[in-house]
Amino acid sequence: MYICQICAKTSKPHQPSFRLPVELRKKKYPFRKEAKFVRKIDKKKRRKKEKIPDPGGRGMEIARELTVCQWCRDRVLRGQALRCRAAGGEALGSEILKE
Ligand SMILES: [Zn+2]
Repeated sequence: MYICQICAKTSKPHQPSFRLPVELRKKKYPFRKEAKFVRKIDKKKRRKKEKIPDPGGRGMEIARELTVCQWCRDRVLRGQALRCRAAGGEALGSEILKE
């Protein structure tokens, strides 16, 4: 059981909960030398492990998410902005979920 962080209602037993991301942040993943292993077959047909670098890159990660009931999740996904009691009356948009 859980308390929905949007409507602040207590769920019924076994009612599924949903994690709703409300804030994303940019994330840089650094270049890592010899981070991955690849199996290769050499000229003498022997298996060999070879270390290859992880190129790293950029992406997004979830900074904050709410535990919500299905009804609230469906409303947010339909694009209806909600007022979140748990977040001090802050408005929740759905633009973050379209990415
Ligand atoms: Zn709810």
